[in-house]
Amino acid sequence: MTTDSVVYPLELAATLADRLRSAKQELVTQWLNRISARVAISTKRVFPTHELLNHVPLLIEGIAGYLKRPERDINAKAPVVAKAMELGALRHAQGFDAYEILKEYEMLGEIIFDFLSDCAEEIPEDVSRRDFLACWQRISQAIELIRQATMSHFLRLSSAQVNERENRLRKFNRTVAHEMKNSVNAIASASTILAESWTGEAERKEIEAIIAKNADGLKRVLANLDSLSRTQADSRHCNNVLLPEAANEAVRELKEAARAKGVDVRIADQLPAIDVDAATVELCLMNYVSNGIKYSDSSKGDRWVGIAATVEGPDTERDREVVIRVSDNGIGVPAERRNQLFQEFYRAHGDTVTGAEGTGLGLSIVRETVESIGGRAWAEFPGETGSVFAFALPARRRDDVEVTEKTSGDSPTAD
Ligand code: ADP
Repeated sequence: MTTDSVVYPLELAATLADRLRSAKQELVTQWLNRISARVAISTKRVFPTHELLNHVPLLIEGIAGYLKRPERDINAKAPVVAKAMELGALRHAQGFDAYEILKEYEMLGEIIFDFLSDCAEEIPEDVSRRDFLACWQRISQAIELIRQATMSHFLRLSSAQVNERENRLRKFNRTVAHEMKNSVNAIASASTILAESWTGEAERKEIEAIIAKNADGLKRVLANLDSLSRTQADSRHCNNVLLPEAANEAVRELKEAARAKGVDVRIADQLPAIDVDAATVELCLMNYVSNGIKYSDSSKGDRWVGIAATVEGPDTERDREVVIRVSDNGIGVPAERRNQLFQEFYRAHGDTVTGAEGTGLGLSIVRETVESIGGRAWAEFPGETGSVFAFALPARRRDDVEVTEKTSGDSPTAD
């Protein structure tokens, strides 16, 4: 057993560092190709900006520098750490999760390891294995340090986002509690009056209507809160279903409401068979489709609501996403009121115009829910009448894209 203190193999380290440097462009290309094979982001967008594409090779450069100079530390001030943090910010913006970032660095480790294995074949026989291992250890340390820099920056940004979401949720809870309190108070006062002996038949009817209306309102808010909590619970349990099944389920649940209003709910033929989060998609579809039914145009003979879905992107702005659209030929929304849709308690028509009761909470819950899983929700008004309410969910898994490419030859439309 030897007790020699280990001497760092400077010469070998310098040779390997130079090789790493000269191969850096090639190594980055390999890395990029492997990453984009895993996630459905175009290669151009994996390192999207010119700046990052120029700077990512600096990570390899940094590793090579660390290898060559044993006295060098990779600390917070090292330029390579700044680049690693930029990568963390980029991945956060692209909606990567922590696991994917770890995987990405694992791949970088593998690529560098393969590269060094090739180098090992070529180095002179008198270079000791121990020296070679010392170099590998130093490289592994460097990879570990830049991985930590990327990861800790990514986690910092994620936790800021969680805080912001918590604040929004608290505000949302306050508004919902306020709304429920109003309804409960209205019901309580109305029942007190009902108990009084002076109320005549006409007043009784009026008061009963107030109670029924507020109880309905409460029921709707509770149903939405229930779906919302199911969404949060389900996202932990990853309860996924295929999109066509989720659409069928929503339509089945609303069958009676549609029949009562004489509205035909149609699902486009070729909904892509993509795995989606069951509770989120059902919550969104239930709200959109029930609105399409509620705000149908009674002056039209043929009243319909259509569900269609397509996979869009990637483009310079976004990665691939599944876009689900619910169109209708209903009463539409006046142009000057469209901006406020999706705000809590905003009702664009008011009970008097449509006779449709509601709380103005449904759309805000839809938005809240899809945004919580990295999606978005919006409305479009392409025609003279009717509306299109849409939501998009990130479709970053390669499997999803392949399924879509197989199933959706042409883009489905509402009718
Ligand atoms: P609610 O239907 O309970 O009022 P929502 O948040 O679901 O609440 O919708 C907010 C408002 O947006 C509705 O009050 C209505 O004015 C308008 N709206 C929603 N969906 C439609 C639609 N499909 N057609 C016309 N207006 C709609």
